[in-house]
Amino acid sequence: MRQSFLFPKTRKESPKEAESVNHKLLVRAGFIDQLMAGSWTLLPLGWRVITKINQVIREEMNAVGGQEMLMPLLHPKAIWNETGRWDKANEIMYKLKDAHNKEYVLSFTHEEIVMDLLRKNIKSYQDLPVSVYHFSTKFRNELRAKAGILRGREFMMKDLYSAHTSEKDLMDYYEKIKGAYSKVFRRLGFDFKVTEASGGVFTDKNTHEFQVLTEGGEDTIYYCDSCDFSENKEIFKGKEGDKCSECKKGKIVEAKSIEVGNIFPLGTWYAEMMRVYFMDKDGGKKPVWFGSYGIGPTRVMGTIVEVSHDEKGIIWPKVVAPFDIHLIELPGAKGTKEIYKKLQGIGKEVLWDDRDVPAGEKFADADLIGIPIRAVVSEKTGDKIEWKGRTSGKIELLTINSSINRLISTD
Ligand code: ATP
Ligand code: MG
Repeated sequence: MRQSFLFPKTRKESPKEAESVNHKLLVRAGFIDQLMAGSWTLLPLGWRVITKINQVIREEMNAVGGQEMLMPLLHPKAIWNETGRWDKANEIMYKLKDAHNKEYVLSFTHEEIVMDLLRKNIKSYQDLPVSVYHFSTKFRNELRAKAGILRGREFMMKDLYSAHTSEKDLMDYYEKIKGAYSKVFRRLGFDFKVTEASGGVFTDKNTHEFQVLTEGGEDTIYYCDSCDFSENKEIFKGKEGDKCSECKKGKIVEAKSIEVGNIFPLGTWYAEMMRVYFMDKDGGKKPVWFGSYGIGPTRVMGTIVEVSHDEKGIIWPKVVAPFDIHLIELPGAKGTKEIYKKLQGIGKEVLWDDRDVPAGEKFADADLIGIPIRAVVSEKTGDKIEWKGRTSGKIELLTINSSINRLISTD
């Protein structure tokens, strides 16, 4: 893509009200734009990143048998009354009426909708298990819609739902999803803890949150410095420095964190409330065992910026970078278009800075936008390319062929 066409331009100043790093940098670099509190446009650069985050999630969900689909966002009141959540979750729901005074809610989650799908389509144990997911918008009346894109009133979620014939089958799958989520967050480069927490408006059982360790986080967790023990502040009974009750060796550490994912072993409550039964092998009618599992890609994008930036701008990990290479053309450069085409020819996404602006501005923008590789061509470089990593101080002069070989070998 030619940068002269890229919408919008970068900005020198952060928005006045911006407090968090992700808010400042994502707005300045042109990834997101705020419509109102908690409501964001994902601009072309931001949408590219989200698409890549979603692809990582999609691959890992498909690998554990998830089937992608898409469910509606406008839900009738009646379905939410079946579980009592029309009242119980009232505070976070955006409710509305149509011209006939019928009541609806904008989706804040989809358990009830999946349950309705299941009762229409599940008859016997042979129809189970089921694992379905979608990426879609969630609406939640968040009272503290701040911290940039970390907490939206309208945000993106990947939510997966699974239904099973037994508690054992549900819990086996729950562990599989825990593994799949861990893979997603490792691929995204996060330092995270799988943390036990309460189930909020979803369940009275404990759940697991995926918490990324960072000073900018809103959550507080306690974890062991030697084993996997980790609990959210809301359920942890103890304090920093205590001996870990689990391994009896390590010490408890308190940390700030951001919740990027949450998995819920919901059990049979939803099936009982909504009459979702199946015929078991023994001929008995039984409620399905249900679980739900969510990741917020927009919050993930903000979290990456919180944990991966410097004073100059964002540092995108390769897997989610909006482009693979930032090709910067300076005066006197020859053959830039051929280089651009060659890089594209090996499947690379290239942002070509073809603008007529000073070199210093181009370099500052490149650091702000944060693409992993900067390739400069100028009168000085002749038929070669000045090659530099976003975080490396080392600049190398490479031929086009050796840059291509390097790109292929580091894939
Ligand atoms: P929080 O405690 O941070 O309000 P939650 O526990 O209510 O979040 P879940 O219902 O567990 O959220 O949602 C699953 C995932 O969706 C979260 O782990 C997070 O990644 C994302 N998410 C939840 N609420 C928001 C929000 N307001 N803005 C952006 N992403 C969100
Ligand atoms: Mg949660």
